[in-house]
Amino acid sequence: MKYEIKEIASTLGVSSSNLNYSEITTLLTDSRKITDPSKTLFFALESKNNDAHNYISELYASGVRNFVVSKQRNEWKDLKGANFFKVRNCLSALQKLAQHHRSKFNIPIIGITGSNGKTVVKEWLYQLLEKDYNIVRSPRSYNSQIGVPLSVWQLDNDAELGIFEAGISKPDEMENLEPIIRPTIGVLTKIGDAHQENFDSLQQKTLEKLELFKNCEVFVYDEDNELVSSCVDLKVLSQKTFSWSRKNREAHLFISDIEKLENSTKIEYSFLNFYYSFEIPFIDDASIENAINCLAIALYLHVSPNEISERMSTLEPVAMRLDVRKGKHGSLIINDSYNSDVNSIKIALDFQHQRKMDRKLKKTLILSDILQSGVPPKRLYKRVADMAEQSGIERIIGIGKDILANADLFTMPDKTFFLTTDDFLKSCIQDSFRDELILLKGARRFNFERINNILEERIHETVLEVDLDAVVHNFNFYKSKLNSNVKLVCMVKANAYGAGAVEIAKTLQYHRCDYLAVAVAEEAVTLRNEGISLPIIVLNPEVNGFEELITNNLEPEVYNMRILESFINNSERSGITNYPIHLKIDTGMHRLGFLPEQIEELVETLKKQKGLRVSSIFSHLSASESWSFDDFTHQQMETFRAAAQKIENELGYSVHKHILNSAGIERFNDYEWDMARLGIGLYGVSPSGLSGLKNVCTLKSTILQIKKISSNETIGYGRKEKLDHDARIATIRFGYADGMDRQFGNRKGKVLINGQNAPIVGNVCMDLSMVDVTDIKAEEGDTVVLFGEGLPVTDLAESIGTIPYEILTSVSPRVKRVYIKE
Ligand SMILES: *Cc1c(COP(=O)(O)O)cnc(C)c1O
Repeated sequence: MKYEIKEIASTLGVSSSNLNYSEITTLLTDSRKITDPSKTLFFALESKNNDAHNYISELYASGVRNFVVSKQRNEWKDLKGANFFKVRNCLSALQKLAQHHRSKFNIPIIGITGSNGKTVVKEWLYQLLEKDYNIVRSPRSYNSQIGVPLSVWQLDNDAELGIFEAGISKPDEMENLEPIIRPTIGVLTKIGDAHQENFDSLQQKTLEKLELFKNCEVFVYDEDNELVSSCVDLKVLSQKTFSWSRKNREAHLFISDIEKLENSTKIEYSFLNFYYSFEIPFIDDASIENAINCLAIALYLHVSPNEISERMSTLEPVAMRLDVRKGKHGSLIINDSYNSDVNSIKIALDFQHQRKMDRKLKKTLILSDILQSGVPPKRLYKRVADMAEQSGIERIIGIGKDILANADLFTMPDKTFFLTTDDFLKSCIQDSFRDELILLKGARRFNFERINNILEERIHETVLEVDLDAVVHNFNFYKSKLNSNVKLVCMVKANAYGAGAVEIAKTLQYHRCDYLAVAVAEEAVTLRNEGISLPIIVLNPEVNGFEELITNNLEPEVYNMRILESFINNSERSGITNYPIHLKIDTGMHRLGFLPEQIEELVETLKKQKGLRVSSIFSHLSASESWSFDDFTHQQMETFRAAAQKIENELGYSVHKHILNSAGIERFNDYEWDMARLGIGLYGVSPSGLSGLKNVCTLKSTILQIKKISSNETIGYGRKEKLDHDARIATIRFGYADGMDRQFGNRKGKVLINGQNAPIVGNVCMDLSMVDVTDIKAEEGDTVVLFGEGLPVTDLAESIGTIPYEILTSVSPRVKRVYIKE
């Protein structure tokens, strides 16, 4: 919907007298996701780590003219034609505007909150009700203080039903979200201890969540949950409740029976004194509870039990993430099996845009018909075509009758259309992809998995799954422990601790990390070739490597006189001046670096030359994670302080100083100086055992074979282990050549299969290992987790007397890395 600038000004309580005429359709909070600049209103949000006022000039240059700000800056005086809405708090302004927008709609709005299952309930309600209503809903899990207003902003004149989720992590947050969503129908999903850290009790959190429903006409909940029931009583919700129960026949909805079959669950219920039943194609408890919540809402909206039963039987799983995989011939594939509706296309296109970087990958979209959107095809595909064009799609392949009929709306010259997925697979186009960033986006019916299988380069069924959202979370976690002006150097040496340096560096660059650091120049050159433009520090450069450093714009650590003199000579010979270097001081680690007594000689040499300029001075702590060596660590800090001061005084200019690694940031932030170097923490391992980090890497493989072996038989090479029971032994595709330490053999180590532990039996082989699955549920083909959530590398490391660093970096390069992102 369009808003004139005047209406926006009056909603925000700002005078409109000096404003230039403009129309707004799009609200923007992330300066990197700009699509339609002239109709965009940007909110300069501030967080502990970031101040979006810094991006205003950049956005102006891209064509944005309307800005909601909480500060004024001189540099904006010259931005001709720009409108500034000065408010006290930009987030509140965003929320106020969304609330104003919401007030224009008199349609049913479903509000969902709870700890788990919000997104699934929202998506399933969409699947169950899309035949009856034109629905606007939150994209993915946009349920935060920022996500909710942006979701509600999507309501337009075609909307007949809204479905929005609200998530909170602190007391009093629901107060802001309630008037924005203003649900008429509420549903509370499962309450658990997610985001519990800021609440005193589960009861406090539940009561806060119930705030969302204070103006609802009806509210759905599970009355068998005593906590929820007691909170409902406490709140004395005045509106009608619609509760369901498995025990109480008097409940509005009585669930009389739940029967789990092989691949589905049959649910029987009674409603208004009649009995009905339906089946869902899921058997886990969470899905059953989510389906019952959806059932209650469908009944309330008068969907007939027959229709409900039919629609429930075809519910589709909700994929919560996008994944990036290596394709054949240098391509990358982003596979998005999330519902292919218009909003999710936009999100996937944004994601594709972020991954592009400078490597010359052509942007390709393979898109199926968008099913049942409720919008006439012409209008729908015009919108899709515009989005594709704005996101820089260079090649489109459309599959399906509707998209084929609207082929001429797509303006890029490289376009091909097919009626069916089969037609695509039979054509020779499937071999034509070269160096492309391919976004695969198909409705389930079109079975795009088959296209994915053809495009993907499959090497080995063992994968290291890397969660990029977790990397970002951990990055922000450490940033929030430092002063906002402290720069972060992220360590991506050793292939980013095994996670894969290129994708990690791209993610960090996008999230505006300040510096990267690698061990050797070759690692940095790979990053440069992949389009990484961040400053990169090379920690262990070669004495003869100066030429390679300058060609690739890399900044060396200088750790002794020999390398210093070589670099000075080289720079003078090539006429380079002020080339940035980073001086390493040895304060007690006794690895690389100048000892304090060498500093005199160091500065004398530096003062005599112009080729190099000291960009930073740093040192490395040798035991920052152990309390027992804190005296020594403090001594290192003081040695460093004195050395840095002396160098700075002598050089006559100030330089950055840094000493903290991950453990240092966690435990010694009194010594943060100007920079810190984040390593293992970024990858989800806290050296001092802090909670709050997210797991990044999950190593997964599969069971190749299972067999029954009798007691007294031995397993594997060297007959090291004799069974003392009749056992089921599973052989998994992972051995020491993949990175499994042989010390894990003979029951020292374990793996996770379907959430259960299985000990490793016998000696670990080169490409295979055996595990004992006698007491657990396991079948051939099942996934085996070698480390990850539920099997932390810290514990594994401890069990064989090593450190998590070694476990992470030992995963062999032949194990495929797969990147996932919500
Ligand atoms: C690897 C490394 C770090 C990072 O250490 P973590 O313990 O992984 O945080 C910091 N500084 C230097 C010089 C390093 O080599």
